[in-house]
Amino acid sequence: MTQPADGAGTELELLADADRRARRWTEGIGSPGRAVFPAEDALATLRRRVDEPLSDRGHAPADTLAMLDEVVGAGVVASNDPRYFGFVVGSTLPVAAAAERLVLAWDQCAPAFDNSPAAHVVEKQAGRWALEALDLPRSAAVGFTTSSGSGAVVALTAARRDLLARQGWDVDRRGLIGTPHIRVVMSELAHVAIVRAVRVLGFGLDTVERIPVDEHGRVRTESVPPLDERTILILQAGEVNTGEFDPFADVLPVARAAGAWVHIDGAFGLWARASRSHRYLTDAVDLADSWTTDGHKWLNTPYDAAMLILRDAQALSSTMNSDTAYLSGDEDAQKNLTLELSRRARGISVWAALRTLGSAGVEDLVDRCISLAQYAAEGLRAGGFTVLNRVVLNQVLVRADTPEQTIAVREHAATAAARTNGCSTPPTTASDQPETWTATAERRSSSEARRGSASWA
Ligand SMILES: *Cc1c(COP(=O)(O)O)cnc(C)c1O
Repeated sequence: MTQPADGAGTELELLADADRRARRWTEGIGSPGRAVFPAEDALATLRRRVDEPLSDRGHAPADTLAMLDEVVGAGVVASNDPRYFGFVVGSTLPVAAAAERLVLAWDQCAPAFDNSPAAHVVEKQAGRWALEALDLPRSAAVGFTTSSGSGAVVALTAARRDLLARQGWDVDRRGLIGTPHIRVVMSELAHVAIVRAVRVLGFGLDTVERIPVDEHGRVRTESVPPLDERTILILQAGEVNTGEFDPFADVLPVARAAGAWVHIDGAFGLWARASRSHRYLTDAVDLADSWTTDGHKWLNTPYDAAMLILRDAQALSSTMNSDTAYLSGDEDAQKNLTLELSRRARGISVWAALRTLGSAGVEDLVDRCISLAQYAAEGLRAGGFTVLNRVVLNQVLVRADTPEQTIAVREHAATAAARTNGCSTPPTTASDQPETWTATAERRSSSEARRGSASWA
């Protein structure tokens, strides 16, 4: 690194300073003095202080780092805190977070072997382990994507390309105008990231066939329309409000026999498969053609680390191929499986998590979060609240006596989270039911995490 004109801080000094500050942040997680969601005055300071003009001559590096820690750090949500129940995002396993620090120092551009042999070899191994942990076809391709949402865009692109090719239509050459119609069939309760993927790919939301759901939020088997070889069917493992699973065993064999392409949105719920006592929820899910899941949710890797898994490895690598004279790669080079060319080696944190946990560790993580969700549901019931879902997984959907009361409790929780230390992040609201809230058990508590790091070291 070139030395800044002001000479303030060598690269190593800056890294040491950043590391000291980062360690202090981590040490404070879960301490009584730290709110999970930042207080109003910290947020006001954050907005005011960050709103500075782009300076002509810049600032000293150490000054920028100090501001980041002291001003910006005060506006950070402590998602690693045991009291964080908002959304379905995870925290970080200590080893995955630490591995990420090292990967950052390496600064690898990781599209293919030639750019980073280390990343290529380790991400391949991470993909193999992910297939094993999730018990999906071992010959499938695994692309490490920024998110399940972007993975879904790629999966559905590959799906449409493949279905069109089967109709004799080469979409790469002929484009989409005048194509045979490709249907999309999906749940009424499909996640917004899936709805967005379908929309941006130009399927047209008015043409998408939505399947009604039962009282648990699972698609009704009898309402699945007739499927054919021009259909993409999207099902989900883990609905974001209820944690429920679509009836794969009833639907997938039929879809397969009909020649439809089945995509599974398993952003967090697919990990139920890693647990012997919960994998029944995912029975037959391995019959699908593609799956998306996150490392940064239930596996507790840092952001962003998600996986796109395609049964037909060749279909994925030919859809996403970006080989060119100056930069070619193997079929399983990550640049030939994902949307990115320059990319960080996000699969390394998945490797670090899986290597450290082992299959028993992943199973334990899943089982423990599910039992914590059940414990939270019991506590909420005992406190007079109505738990609306069956709590089959890690999601708890809750309501008070009246919609007004529920909204009041939720707002109180949000305010308390901001003002005091005794409450969690604001729980989230079910999209179609503003009078409910959802809490998620998806993270290791920081004390558990520390114990974990000690015993695995
Ligand atoms: C979070 C989530 C997504 C989107 O995943 P990202 O990694 O945030 O893009 C899709 N589906 C479900 C069920 C989710 O919970």
